[in-house]
Amino acid sequence: MTLSSEIAAARASIIERIANAAKAAGRSPDAIALVAVSKQQPDERIDAMLATGQRLFGENRVQEAQVRWAERRAASPDLRLRLIGPLQSNKAGDAVRLFDAIDSLDRPKLAAAIADAVQKQGRCPQLLVQVNTGEEPQKAGVAPADADAFIAAVQREYQLPVAGLMCIPPADEEPAMHFALLAKIAARNGLSELSMGMSDDFETAIRFGATQVRVGSALFGARG
Ligand SMILES: *Cc1c(COP(=O)(O)O)cnc(C)c1O
Repeated sequence: MTLSSEIAAARASIIERIANAAKAAGRSPDAIALVAVSKQQPDERIDAMLATGQRLFGENRVQEAQVRWAERRAASPDLRLRLIGPLQSNKAGDAVRLFDAIDSLDRPKLAAAIADAVQKQGRCPQLLVQVNTGEEPQKAGVAPADADAFIAAVQREYQLPVAGLMCIPPADEEPAMHFALLAKIAARNGLSELSMGMSDDFETAIRFGATQVRVGSALFGARG
């Protein structure tokens, strides 16, 4: 198989699995967006993915995304980029300029920096609050117990709209309880977007209400 047919087949297979998981959960497949996580992937795989018609991509570093997407974005105006990795507040301006969504909002200092950049640039990416559902010290995200207060602060003090929540469950735990917790926090805060589920667990995430799944290696192959 050529690289482009391999990538097209991988994408078709993931789209089918999303549809099947949605149907099994009594949900519409249209309610779940596929975010193709392109971090650390070589150019030829990115271009093969673009050729399939995939337009929604996730990146975890601002600078890497700038290099990869600056020209491709000009060539594909309907491209949508989500920042799914941690963001330093001194890069908030660059992130607001480049990304259509920032999924890793998790602290007041970052909210302040994003609010400032939004004011200056007159554009506001969609914002998701990242919740550290496993309370892992090395992982970004607000603690579950602090999520309600943080969401309220983002909305009231920083005047930023929060569209939903994102989580990355601990690698060595059953993800279902983490997805259920994220869905519960979103519901009680009236938030509709749930970014959860990766290559190994996106079907479980869909069962628990994911509206966006972030799939990297199962789409592109192992990262280089
Ligand atoms: C890398 C990454 C993914 C994709 O992981 P795969 O296991 O390759 O699907 C999803 N979400 C985040 C936040 C990531 O950093």
